Amino acid sequence: MPTASESSQPSASVGPQSSPSPGSRSAESRPRASSAESAQNTFDVAVIGGGAAGLAASIALARSLRSVVVIDAGQLRNSSSAHAHNVLGHEGIRPQDLVAKGRTEAEDYGVTFIDATVTRAHTHDSDSRPAEEAPQHRFELAISTGVEVRARRIVIATGLSDELPEIPGLAEGWGDTVLHCPYCHGYEVRGQRIGVIGTTAMSYHQAMLFSQLSDHVSFIRHTAPAPDSEQEAMFDTLGIEYIDSTVTEVARAESGTVVSLAAGEPADGANALTFDALTVGAYARADADLFSQLGGEVVAHPSGMGTFIPTQTAGQTDVPGVWAVGNSADVSAMVVASTASGVLAGAHINADLIMESLG
Ligand SMILES: Cc1cc2nc3c(=O)[nH]c(=O)nc-3n(C[C@H](O)[C@H](O)[C@H](O)COP(=O)(O)OP(=O)(O)OC[C@H]3O[C@@H](n4cnc5c(N)ncnc54)[C@H](O)[C@@H]3O)c2cc1C
Repeated sequence: MPTASESSQPSASVGPQSSPSPGSRSAESRPRASSAESAQNTFDVAVIGGGAAGLAASIALARSLRSVVVIDAGQLRNSSSAHAHNVLGHEGIRPQDLVAKGRTEAEDYGVTFIDATVTRAHTHDSDSRPAEEAPQHRFELAISTGVEVRARRIVIATGLSDELPEIPGLAEGWGDTVLHCPYCHGYEVRGQRIGVIGTTAMSYHQAMLFSQLSDHVSFIRHTAPAPDSEQEAMFDTLGIEYIDSTVTEVARAESGTVVSLAAGEPADGANALTFDALTVGAYARADADLFSQLGGEVVAHPSGMGTFIPTQTAGQTDVPGVWAVGNSADVSAMVVASTASGVLAGAHINADLIMESLG
């Protein structure tokens, strides 16, 4: 019977290093992850996406002596923000610096990185071949560089796309003057003039949360449903101004962010309002094309705020051998929650591979 480490040795010439001490060595002395273009490119686990979730999964797996490749297109969801908050031990860190640190730690454990996009995922489970003839790796991934990677398990850590309402000028401020999350940036705009642009019923909740941070919160209904009596009472109690109008444009000015309102709609006679910060509920669509290609079904979040890959314990999906972590599986997961989901999935995948080796 092979030992755990024998069975997990990668076919490519990379793999777990002995007793690494992440961060304690120079880049020169760090074990080199070999090119995944070499040999057979077959790994125990392929992690698609190298944000907080994917990196955390890769480290948990590599620390269990699993061969791991992370394929990452490098488009972090929060890359437009200068700082990430509520990240314990790294408060206010630049998002890019956080993942660079995580990547160094993963490389120290021998994780292979490919900076590219996975364009296609295929599983042998749907093959008509009898089990004894099927290859040991279950998955094949086509990558934008033309390389193909094979793996026994897949972690989808591709995050989500924030789809903003089509208001000219809005996207330009995303992550800076246009915000969505009171726990990510709310403290930084405390006490300021905050305009909430309504998109769904959840926007009322967003206004409620921001009212804890400022006495100057205005809610512009835009495309949100009209308030019910409970929401009206909540706005009255919390002192949130309600403006029943749509937004036609957002522009930066010396005085702040100017929001133009549709002519002829009631806004106390004003057709433009100035705020220090805007908040808006973007539609959070899971980046899940690869999951669909593998036979999975993405579901809509009951709140209407987006879509996600449904998972069971520790990120396991309904598609055998496929885990989903971070924002691809949970629209509301912040950095630390995404990291935690990656670690947990990594631990469960390692156990799953051991179980498989027991037959
Ligand atoms: C503007 C903004 C500010 C935020 N600020 C904070 C904050 O202050 N604190 C906080 O805790 N949270 C914050 N968040 C939330 C935070 O961004 C997420 O919690 C976190 O990014 C989720 O990590 P993830 O690994 O799931 O996804 P991501 O960080 O988005 O990483 C996913 C990675 O997968 C890659 N990828 C996608 N598809 C493919 C593919 N087919 N092939 C290869 N790679 C692929 C992407 O390019 C990306 O690099 C903020 C979000 C936004 C929008």
